[in-house]
Amino acid sequence: MQIICPWCGERSYEEFRYGGDATVVRPTASEAADDDAWHEYIFVRDNPYGPHEEWWYHAYGCHQWFRVRRDTVTYEILSTVPANHRSGDRQA
Ligand SMILES: [Zn+2]
Repeated sequence: MQIICPWCGERSYEEFRYGGDATVVRPTASEAADDDAWHEYIFVRDNPYGPHEEWWYHAYGCHQWFRVRRDTVTYEILSTVPANHRSGDRQA
């Protein structure tokens, strides 16, 4: 499998490390005292079937975090974008 780093280009997946679900949103300041919101943020994850947005780290390259939109069924990489972009912003 090849992954396209937004900065380095196409590289072997062995250079990268998975960083988790990129769709999880930290509780807002108004939700900070809500134990259920923190429980959801820390422990509860979806198990998506199909396209999903994930964090990946180029450990043996530029050491940058970025978002990968990947199909969990076929493992196809649909797009990659820098960490401060959404997958719909730019295709790599
Ligand atoms: Zn890179």
